[in-house]
Amino acid sequence: MTSLPRGYLSHSQVRLYGECPQKYYFAYIEEIPVRVNEKVFLGEIFHSTLEEYFTRQINGFCADEALTVAVFREAFTAQGKERDIDWQVSQRETLARGMAFIKYFLAHIAPKLKPLMVEKELSAEIPEIGVTLKGVIDLVEADFGIIDFKTTTSKWSANKARNSLQMIIYKYLFDRNFGNVHGSLKYEILYAKNAARIRHQSLEVIPGPEDIAQMLHLIKHVADNIRAGVFYPQANHFCAYCDFFAACRKKNPGLLTAKC
Ligand code: SF4
Repeated sequence: MTSLPRGYLSHSQVRLYGECPQKYYFAYIEEIPVRVNEKVFLGEIFHSTLEEYFTRQINGFCADEALTVAVFREAFTAQGKERDIDWQVSQRETLARGMAFIKYFLAHIAPKLKPLMVEKELSAEIPEIGVTLKGVIDLVEADFGIIDFKTTTSKWSANKARNSLQMIIYKYLFDRNFGNVHGSLKYEILYAKNAARIRHQSLEVIPGPEDIAQMLHLIKHVADNIRAGVFYPQANHFCAYCDFFAACRKKNPGLLTAKC
């Protein structure tokens, strides 16, 4: 029986296994390295900039907008040189879009927030299914509301937020660590294809009465399959964009014939 490769499950692991068990195998068992594209890179720098911004506030310093914009620009430029990024959109355009996201955040979102904890890592043992679950919450507000920030190119559907496994996992982890304090669960989504027109959605997630039970059922299913070595390829419309397309084609020559 295989043990869980990291010793725990997280939302990203459960999501990846759900997309395709073999993709999970390549990422977490074989640990085949993949290049980060500019969208993921921008999201990482955006989140690290917000972490610094909120940490300053939590530690009693005034919000400094010029400093925050400079922090973003410097981190983007320095890491853009150091790391091997797959620039599908040019570095210059991506920097401009990221700067526009940060300026929008500072002008329209940040003034309404009261940060209590930032990038809060939480874990909980789930003895009934023998799994440790972990997650990192972007922001917990003073009223115990949980916020996750997204940077993307297009608008989310309301359903995507409503059916969010990620937020149910965060709520479960938060309640297990701090008790059920009934804070809100919200996505703050910044989206734009370029720097010219930044848009924003604030989508609240209201958990249903069965959501936690369904989440635990799903996590048990994924953990049982990983431990049993169940990693079948699940070909889908996104195979052409899969980071492991070449490895998959080699392992399953009859499954995929063209990268279209
Ligand atoms: S190419 Fe498709 S079937 Fe193969 S690992 Fe990726 S998602 Fe799964």
